[in-house]
Amino acid sequence: MNLYAALRAGFPADLDSTAIDNDGLLYSWRDLDNGSAMLANWLGKLALPAGSRVAVHTDKSVEALMLYLAVLRAGLVYLPLNPAYHAAELEHFISDAAPGAVVCAGKNFGWVSKLAFQRGVRWVFTLNDDRTGTLLDRAAQMPLAHEPVERTDTDLAAILYTSGTTGRSKGAMLSHGNLLSNARTLKDFWDWKPDDVLLHALPIFHVHGLFVASHGALLNGSRMLWFNKFEAGPVARRLPEATVFMGVPTLYVRLLQEKTLDTKNIRLFISGSAPLLIETWREWQVRTGHLILERYGMSETLMLTSNPCKPEDGERVGGTVGPALPGVGLRIVDDEGLPCAADEIGHVQVRGPNVFSGYWQMPEKTAEEFTADGWFKTGDVGRVAANGYLTLIGRSKDLIISGGFNVYPAEIEGFLNELPGVGESAVIGVPHPDFGEAVVAVITPAGRPDPEGLIKALKDRIAGFKVPKRVIVTAELPRNAMGKVQKKLLREQHAALFC
Ligand code: ATP
Ligand code: MG
Repeated sequence: MNLYAALRAGFPADLDSTAIDNDGLLYSWRDLDNGSAMLANWLGKLALPAGSRVAVHTDKSVEALMLYLAVLRAGLVYLPLNPAYHAAELEHFISDAAPGAVVCAGKNFGWVSKLAFQRGVRWVFTLNDDRTGTLLDRAAQMPLAHEPVERTDTDLAAILYTSGTTGRSKGAMLSHGNLLSNARTLKDFWDWKPDDVLLHALPIFHVHGLFVASHGALLNGSRMLWFNKFEAGPVARRLPEATVFMGVPTLYVRLLQEKTLDTKNIRLFISGSAPLLIETWREWQVRTGHLILERYGMSETLMLTSNPCKPEDGERVGGTVGPALPGVGLRIVDDEGLPCAADEIGHVQVRGPNVFSGYWQMPEKTAEEFTADGWFKTGDVGRVAANGYLTLIGRSKDLIISGGFNVYPAEIEGFLNELPGVGESAVIGVPHPDFGEAVVAVITPAGRPDPEGLIKALKDRIAGFKVPKRVIVTAELPRNAMGKVQKKLLREQHAALFC
């Protein structure tokens, strides 16, 4: 089934009711349906070969969401790109994905179109966040009716490039079936209701804002309060009108700095994409009375685990990402691929109808990341308790091997964050002539940190081989748009510390 047809079936009977409130500008469900139909009709006229990618490098807007829906309707493959990407980055993605059409912001048309035309792209349109652009001009001439193109579950719907946290971004190929099965699972597990109101303040080039958030609201006929950008003040002011909020951890940290947080109408706060510090989770509870529901997923697999929403599904436990979602297989294995016991740390592997079919143009990488018995290696390290709850420990690529011992950065970060003077911390391994890798902590200050004092305090708490050889104070940790700490950058910055 075409994913759009399934989402459309969730729209309320009254198509003239409000679907999206974009800072006071109201879009009805009919507007979404008609707008995406017109865009789909225009895309259809381009007669792109089946499976063509439509690369989208635009700022967030409701029209950009309509374009996503239109690409689904037209049976093409949606390929969103972070609008912050510059020429060198875009060049890689356009060469790699070879899209049939590119849509970009008008202000970037000069360099984007040059780059695209040089790589054989035939069509480049503009779409701005103020309802202008050549794409909308063309679509405005098109009919309002459009029958979604038939798609099977395995037909590609989108290629999502991973965030590039651990290396070069890879294009995860997601099908209509992957996206729909995950959206349906979350509808049930998070207990979506038509009268829910989602405050949508996440970017839509990533799995969190595009799929988890938007599909949630669309499939359930729930209204969205739509923010083109996250700003803590305006978002806090409209929280009282919302019932569901989704954020990456940094959004919660920033909201906590607001003087007023009226959360009494909120049913569900959800966090994901990066680790939510237990301190933030606790502070949120003290401040608002709400237990943030933390969940875990990735571009390749969509959502994998979630803390419970409904009381009958169990308790919401801070610091964990909850049990596997219904239909998702989850296992922890050791370096040899053998199953780990409860609470034992190992590699997280998953399978299910939500798991992607492979990386775009990377058959070897795809083969490497699946086991012989069909499980996907997430690259994350964690442990599952006897009750099935997963706690993530970090990424296998961030694991430090110092003097032959395994050091899990998250464990040390947990201890450091509790010590006076420490705001946030990132523990990394850097080359060391004796130990192979040396443990180094990079921290942000909360007050006046004393690096030597911190090292001494850690020596009393954890085994010597885990204690950082050096504590470096920095104003801010480098993070990407989703709030993920860029440990790759930190390792590069401090590579020469001991060598
Ligand atoms: P790349 O694969 O290019 O290195 P990436 O893995 O950061 O980048 P994404 O697919 O955007 O790209 O992110 C998925 C990853 O985000 C997961 O593998 C996991 O490490 C992390 N993640 C997601 N949710 C959580 C969470 N709740 N807690 C901790 N980490 C999370
Ligand atoms: Mg990844």
